[in-house]
Amino acid sequence: MNYRRKIIAGNWKMHKTASESKNLVQDILSELKDWNEGDVVLCVPFTSLQTAGALLESQTVVELGAQNLHQAPQGAFTGEISAGMLRDLFVRYVIIGHSERRQYFGETNALINQKIKTALTSTLKPILCYGETLQERESNLWKSVLESQIKESLAGFTEAEMETVILAYEPVWAIGTGKTASPDQAQEAHAFSRTILTQLFGKAVADKTRIQYGGSVKPENAQELLQQQDIDGALVGGASLEARSFASLVKKGCQALA
Ligand code: PEP
Repeated sequence: MNYRRKIIAGNWKMHKTASESKNLVQDILSELKDWNEGDVVLCVPFTSLQTAGALLESQTVVELGAQNLHQAPQGAFTGEISAGMLRDLFVRYVIIGHSERRQYFGETNALINQKIKTALTSTLKPILCYGETLQERESNLWKSVLESQIKESLAGFTEAEMETVILAYEPVWAIGTGKTASPDQAQEAHAFSRTILTQLFGKAVADKTRIQYGGSVKPENAQELLQQQDIDGALVGGASLEARSFASLVKKGCQALA
């Protein structure tokens, strides 16, 4: 049995206006009242951060996350959002390198590395997303893809900095497709990721680092996935957009003993 505390994060992507977010946060809070068996994070759109933050600041069950940041502390970057702006709204976590950002916005491992550095400098906890495409899995390239994504994204960080970094293995072929990696496939990728972390930072850091699984996680499959030895939580897209389903997923996932 591992001792890592489970962490479940909802990624709302580009869904929910600020007023819709208010309702959804309130509903999630009432479903998860007094919950304390794992960390729960809501990564809402930028425009909902203030509303969500105001609802979350008086409780400790659910924390606030963002979905991206700019790597520079400030400057002439029209349309971008800095780490300081997020901190000012009581954001604690930030998703970095989601496959949709890699695919549609050309984010590279080198850029993701800079963004993680910026997050850490501002005491935001980065959730580093990585994972292979269907083609890479089918041509048995997934291990080398994961290895280079992890090594390049985490190059240069210290063991102390790694204490607040969370990883999220998200096979691209399982995101938003309804196709989940089997618990065995996910466990194999997570165990492999931990061996890469051991090479980079040593066993003590690798053993402590939490690695979420993401890709069509639902209340029905959360427990089986999260009871795998190296799966420490979930990053959840679609199923985080409805309060009852998200709360049920959190309860089943956090109670899974790995
Ligand atoms: C995600 O957006 O990170 C994700 C895993 O989405 P979904 O749960 O909808 O597959």
